[in-house]
Amino acid sequence: MRDKIIKLERQSASLEPGQEEREILRRPVMDYTDDFLNHIETIKAYQKSETPSVNISEFEPDKQTYSMEQIVHILSQSMDKEGLNPASGGHLGYIPGGGIYASSIADYWAAITNRYAGVFYASPDAVRIENKLIQWLGKIIGYPEGMHGNLTSGGSVANLIGMITARKAMGIKAGHIPNSTIYLTRQAHHSIIKSFSVSGIDECHIRYIELDDHFRMDMNDLRNKISEDSKKGLQPFLLVGSAGTTDVGAIDPMDEMADIAEEYNMWLHIDAAYGGFFILLDEFKSKFKGIERSDSVVIDPHKGLFLPYGLGVCLVKNGQHIQQAFTFKANYLQDIDSMKDEINPMDASPEMTKHFRGLRLWIPIMLYGLDPFRAALQEKIMLARYFYSQLKEMKDWDVGQYPQLSIVTFRYQPTSENHDRENQFILDKVREDGRVFISSTNIDGKFTLRLAILSFRTHLRTLDIMLEILRDSVKLIEENKIKIS
Ligand SMILES: *Cc1c(COP(=O)(O)O)cnc(C)c1O
Repeated sequence: MRDKIIKLERQSASLEPGQEEREILRRPVMDYTDDFLNHIETIKAYQKSETPSVNISEFEPDKQTYSMEQIVHILSQSMDKEGLNPASGGHLGYIPGGGIYASSIADYWAAITNRYAGVFYASPDAVRIENKLIQWLGKIIGYPEGMHGNLTSGGSVANLIGMITARKAMGIKAGHIPNSTIYLTRQAHHSIIKSFSVSGIDECHIRYIELDDHFRMDMNDLRNKISEDSKKGLQPFLLVGSAGTTDVGAIDPMDEMADIAEEYNMWLHIDAAYGGFFILLDEFKSKFKGIERSDSVVIDPHKGLFLPYGLGVCLVKNGQHIQQAFTFKANYLQDIDSMKDEINPMDASPEMTKHFRGLRLWIPIMLYGLDPFRAALQEKIMLARYFYSQLKEMKDWDVGQYPQLSIVTFRYQPTSENHDRENQFILDKVREDGRVFISSTNIDGKFTLRLAILSFRTHLRTLDIMLEILRDSVKLIEENKIKIS
């Protein structure tokens, strides 16, 4: 038996490389990623699928083994050849990604040490760091002490935690559902609707509130709908606002929403996944007024703090509420409560085992403080305004509203006719070029181009490229008028 066990140990030895073998594994990846960053300015933001020289689907995961060098080669010949490059500053579609380097080093550290960040006693300092970050973010939002929250994989899961917490805290049992009402606008992110479904509140009456001229929730319509519902004997339960809608970056009037939520004893949830960190800029403090009066807030460090994908946050004003929604006991966990100076992350989340994801936020802030983040956020705001004003001066362009945050919507509109096809053509041209990537949306029934600036790598030169491509596309349209429309 001992011989057999020792033989097995030898057979699995490759899982524990020594110092030299680790270097052999690490080197090709370091070389590749360094090269990637050194050339990030010239790597396209988007590539339409060309036929890659390597077809990744042909690799059966366990049929054959490869060296790390070969693996790097395979990926660089396949993955790099098509699709979106979220690390590029040219990514101006949807909500752009980031990927600050310091976070990737933190992820490396977290993965190697593999600290268990689910319960306090397993790694008290990992949990202290995560809970400290939650308190720090709470302060940024303006929440009082006693708040709590959770570091999640992203904004969608954070919204889900918010909805589950709201339902539990408001005591919405199955029997209350047919009598309860929820208010939001059609500009709310789809993850909110999804989280209604997952948390089982989608069978409440869902009221979509009208938008004002700036795509914000209309307070008169909200008041009217709530009062109608109350008269009918329904129970207003939940009000959901956005601090930066994904479509146009509209900030709902949160202070007035908080007044109404208080008056009717509703839970106020604010989805600030995209826009939340702009509160760090003085000029936005007043625009975010009222967010501190909400019951829960979602913000996404993998958007507004430029982290690589994998960090959203749900903050709950009354920390008891999030714990009541997510604390459950089990026999095999009986030891964990005897050593608990801090709230266990697993008691504020549907997750149990989780990696130490707080480190990817903590290390960059420890390294740099907030000032460079503030500067980058201010730069994004000014770039959006720059693009807006440049486009406004170009003839035949209909620029949407002045950007409330860092999103600009615009449309080629030389005459009053429908020009959807020309705009689709322009979008195709932008994608063909690939140096920048934008997405489109539908505003007031019209196909509209849309650009969102949130990558720390997006700079003045990026927007100048964008403007150049727009000018060139219009030239093409003018030359080929008949073919397109
Ligand atoms: C991006 C976004 C989400 C979803 O967050 P993920 O991190 O993509 O899961 C939710 N709400 C808003 C307003 C967003 O912009």
